[in-house]
Amino acid sequence: MNTHPSPDLISRYATGDTDVDEATLWAMEAHLETCADCRDHVTAAIDPGTQDLLARVAEGVSAGIATGPAPAGPRRRLRRTGVAARVLPWLATAGLLIGAAVIFERLFPEMPSLVLLLAPVVPLLPVAAAWSRRTDPAWELVASMPRTGLQLLLRRTLSVLAAVIPALALAAWGTGHSPALWLLPCLAFTAGTLALGGLFGIDRAAIGLTIAWSAAVVVPSMVTARLPALLSGGSWPVWAVLTALLVGLVLVRGADHRRFGAGKG
Ligand SMILES: [Zn+2]
Repeated sequence: MNTHPSPDLISRYATGDTDVDEATLWAMEAHLETCADCRDHVTAAIDPGTQDLLARVAEGVSAGIATGPAPAGPRRRLRRTGVAARVLPWLATAGLLIGAAVIFERLFPEMPSLVLLLAPVVPLLPVAAAWSRRTDPAWELVASMPRTGLQLLLRRTLSVLAAVIPALALAAWGTGHSPALWLLPCLAFTAGTLALGGLFGIDRAAIGLTIAWSAAVVVPSMVTARLPALLSGGSWPVWAVLTALLVGLVLVRGADHRRFGAGKG
């Protein structure tokens, strides 16, 4: 409603006429929020008895606010604690896996590197846990905030990577692997999870990629006792290009996350 509502409509609105359709009511209320003149017209159109009642209610509410307890502060800490409590067990699991991979590598130096084989998928489940609609009790609250979507997803993902990457770096340093062979696959798979997550939900994308990588690469490598070519020295440019493409895709398709929030989960 760009122009002011007619005096007739204002008086029907003020007297609670039930014949006014919903769309007109919405437009009317949206207009009233921005137009002081029309608010005055509505006030004038309300009958004196109701005006009296409204004045008394307003007085009561003001008195209640003045004497009541101070409003609770923002509940940021609580929500953060909720996310942390959900993610920490998964981060601990990731840490244990990395530790076990290092021990395995020390004990069986002739076997393919478990540190390199696990690096791509180690951050995926903590990322899924940080962003699962199913396990987030504050989901509805988060979904209604303007920061929901890509920005919040990236922040939570970076927090997970900030914990996982140093652990992987330590493991790779201890076992003598080049950073390009664990860091780039790790980033590529994380970006792949976010990209696919926009379509299927982050948790499904993370679980799907973890299973696919384990079945297609980890198990065959262990069975044949050979590290695949894609985790050997010459493969890093492929991983670099793939990572750049997937990060670009995530940023371009940011609207997917805005639309689904954490995914359809
Ligand atoms: Zn107006």
